[in-house]
Amino acid sequence: MFDIHDSSLRLQPAKPSHYLLSPVVQPQWRLSDLWHRSATDELEALRQRLCESYGVRHCLLLDRARSGLYLLCRAFGLNREWILTSVMHRPSAVVLSNHSSGLAFADINEDMTIDPVSVERLLTPRSCAILATHTYGKAADVIALRALADKHGLVLIENAVHMAGKYQVHGQTLGSWGDAAIVSFNVDKPLGGILGGALLTNRDDIWQAVSTQQLGPPNTKEMRERIRTTFTAYRLKPLILRLPAGREHRAAADGLTEIESFGLSTYQRYTPRQIHPTQARVALSCMDREKHSVEQRTDNAEKLNRQLAQDDRYGLPQSTPDRPHTFTYYPLLVRKGLRLELGQHLADAGIESKWRLAPLHTQEGFTEARRDDLTRSETLWGQHLLLPMGPSITQSQIDYLANTLLRWKV
Ligand SMILES: *Cc1c(COP(=O)(O)O)cnc(C)c1O
Repeated sequence: MFDIHDSSLRLQPAKPSHYLLSPVVQPQWRLSDLWHRSATDELEALRQRLCESYGVRHCLLLDRARSGLYLLCRAFGLNREWILTSVMHRPSAVVLSNHSSGLAFADINEDMTIDPVSVERLLTPRSCAILATHTYGKAADVIALRALADKHGLVLIENAVHMAGKYQVHGQTLGSWGDAAIVSFNVDKPLGGILGGALLTNRDDIWQAVSTQQLGPPNTKEMRERIRTTFTAYRLKPLILRLPAGREHRAAADGLTEIESFGLSTYQRYTPRQIHPTQARVALSCMDREKHSVEQRTDNAEKLNRQLAQDDRYGLPQSTPDRPHTFTYYPLLVRKGLRLELGQHLADAGIESKWRLAPLHTQEGFTEARRDDLTRSETLWGQHLLLPMGPSITQSQIDYLANTLLRWKV
């Protein structure tokens, strides 16, 4: 066993000096999306597409997915305790912690999604909502979670930020299992756009509460910034990092440091905003390509799984009919040996690897939160490493990735 507070665990693996595969985050938006008009009313077209994709009747377009969480707390009144996993996106947890009476951390399953049994252990009369994150693109156990929420009169919110549209479980679309769901169009999410998000729901009372809120104006400055940084941070990163000066920017370029140092009081005053029309336009174009890119990514992940199946040093992310995986990220579990060492081995071979979500209960502001036994969260978090799995990865690149992993000497 390792010690979760061991600071070497928090280090990101080295970056390759030459990228032979695309980076872990591959933006899907293209420059031409910025001016390509695909509908007369692009906002309405996007709303309709999202409703259809996630099986809901109502869609509120927003600047970010986390604005949806804010509205659920403040406008719909989910302001008592939220139950969620500790392996989560810090800024979103900061929104919840600032606008509810508190958070409680449930443990995760082997696939890194929330464990319903652990949720049940945490329930008290103060609990109000379960946040089920489809972590890294793997569907949470919506069947058990829906039953649990109904049994105890709780609200189930799907964090579908990593989940592509049109995936079904028992004939019901993911995104419609929850009382509401949030989605994001940002560059590191399935659509791979330039910020923007939405709150989706089938419940008229939730819709009534959230849609009547006054939203702030779109954040044009932030969007322009995002266009610039996603180009430099992801598209040009493989080039920039080759330059001596570029190496100094490698940490900043990922935006990870920024996410983890996210201040606890940042969102005490929060303004949910409207989506910017350009963000909506880009998201709409990205949606046209989504089905194809998710199919390719899933295909690639399954090819890699087949090649690694015999190597018991690795735990592989799996897709099953009840629990589909869309592989927005491909989390490899490094069962034997250290993930940092594997990361170095991959970097030496020109392959980027990283992890993105750090356990909140070990981070400033969340150490006092109520929690279940989080042994599995700690172990799995310490083992997981995200591999490049973008839609444009070729067969020979998959072979190269698999061979590099098989060749690793622990
Ligand atoms: C990015 C992310 C969010 C928040 O999405 P925004 O649109 O940036 O607000 C929430 N949860 C997870 C797991 C994320 O990765």
